[in-house]
Amino acid sequence: MQLRAVLFDVGDTLWHAAQPPPPAEFRRMGAERAEAFLRHIGVPCRNPEQLARAAWASMESAMRAARSSDRVEPDYAAVARSAAASEGVFLTNEQAAALMEAIYISGAEGGKRAYPDARGTLVELRNRGFRLGIVTNRAFGGERFRADLRELGLDVGWDAVSVSVEVGFLKPHPALFEHALTALDLEPRQALMVGNSLVEDVSGAQALGIAAAWKRSQPDAEGVTPDLTFGELSELLLWPPLKEAAH
Ligand SMILES: [Mg+2]
Repeated sequence: MQLRAVLFDVGDTLWHAAQPPPPAEFRRMGAERAEAFLRHIGVPCRNPEQLARAAWASMESAMRAARSSDRVEPDYAAVARSAAASEGVFLTNEQAAALMEAIYISGAEGGKRAYPDARGTLVELRNRGFRLGIVTNRAFGGERFRADLRELGLDVGWDAVSVSVEVGFLKPHPALFEHALTALDLEPRQALMVGNSLVEDVSGAQALGIAAAWKRSQPDAEGVTPDLTFGELSELLLWPPLKEAAH
């Protein structure tokens, strides 16, 4: 195996929700932020908690539907705008997108923590000559996601960052993996995908000829055979194909 790059899933692979606020606290924060945002743009709303809840639920249901059908990222702004309209709050798509950004509680504030060996493993892979990429399904990308990576100590100089909402497709759709390979200018056989989902990470990568390492977790598919199965990220460093990067 001639590996030159390692691609990582993020949620439950590099970071996880270690201490998330209780649901009631999430709702309270969402309501407070929705209210402040709407006041700022001068749009009246009688029940910001209900608005925040409805907008969030509609986004999650659009994402679930996309994940179980064509894996094309929904237009979340349009989804949120229509959820808000059904609550009697009329926004432009741009305002609806900003509302979602406002109520989204991410990173350390959302209880996320990097796994203790995540940063050390990434740094060591880089020292061995591997290029590093992110291939992640998430409804929020942009600077906010990069800031969350920095805050959690995962700013290791990524060579490729492929975020579903930015690319327009969700794993296991091949387009998200291809986006990372193109950014790295590599062939599928030169990359390893690392993730906790058999469906999204392992079978998605393998369908393109990318080897895949599975971080053992509740299996979400049958009949998928990872090239490597591991428990802790640092175990990757012991796997012979990751001893050093091929040149
Ligand atoms: Mg994951």
